[in-house]
Amino acid sequence: MIIHVLTLFPGMFPPVLSESMLGKANEKGILELDIIDIRDFTLNKHKKTDDTPFGGGAGMVMNADPIFRALENIHVQEKRILYMSPRGKLLDQSMIEELAELDELTILCGHYEGVDQRVLDHWNMEEVSIGDYILTGGELPAMVLIDSVARLIPDVLGSPESLMEESIYSGLLEYPHYTKPREYRGMEVPEVLVSGNHRKIHLWKLEQSLKLTRARRPDLFERFLERRDELDKEEKKLLQKILESQDE
Ligand code: SAM
Repeated sequence: MIIHVLTLFPGMFPPVLSESMLGKANEKGILELDIIDIRDFTLNKHKKTDDTPFGGGAGMVMNADPIFRALENIHVQEKRILYMSPRGKLLDQSMIEELAELDELTILCGHYEGVDQRVLDHWNMEEVSIGDYILTGGELPAMVLIDSVARLIPDVLGSPESLMEESIYSGLLEYPHYTKPREYRGMEVPEVLVSGNHRKIHLWKLEQSLKLTRARRPDLFERFLERRDELDKEEKKLLQKILESQDE
């Protein structure tokens, strides 16, 4: 997969994206990141990329021309182009799964008050938000999106089964984790996890996930209930017990 990123701050990307799994994916050639400095496509002496808004109002707006030129240079007319924006559709796991199937993706990072609307209209950009809060620029949102997409590309993560257990992916929040030592400052690891009984461990994890999801994300829990037929007999019994304890 190749991801082109158009930004006014190209220096923000390498320190984050060259570390850890993303760096390895890049080295292995599974994921190529093409960080493009919008300023390189300005035609004015001072490499100015923004101007005051028509109709007045606070702040500056990013000019269309350098962004048009940068996009023309990479020939992405027919490809998906995202604009990171608080006005956009909220990023979620299903959108990330869909994006991870692509072989090429372009992301525009905004700054100041945003970009000239003609950029979004002409290039048919999809606006994507990472949450209901305002950041100073689209770079951090773009990195959030790239990181979450990259880990779904085959061979980026070591073990694909770990994906299936992840929070959200299964429709439930993830159960708590413990590692060595078995006792730390008087706090014990739950007995069942050291029992060696895989079925019991599975049911314990499911119970923890169900309880956490019900308490923290009732919206996800309700959605999960619609899929309860996928559970086996024992799992259904466990779910029933949790639902009854909720009614008490
Ligand atoms: N004036 C804009 C508005 O009210 O929608 C906010 C502009 S914001 C200060 C500057 C840039 O940061 C945006 O153009 C966008 O690229 C990025 N940005 C800020 N918050 C974001 C969010 N929650 N999700 C995605 N991008 C965001």
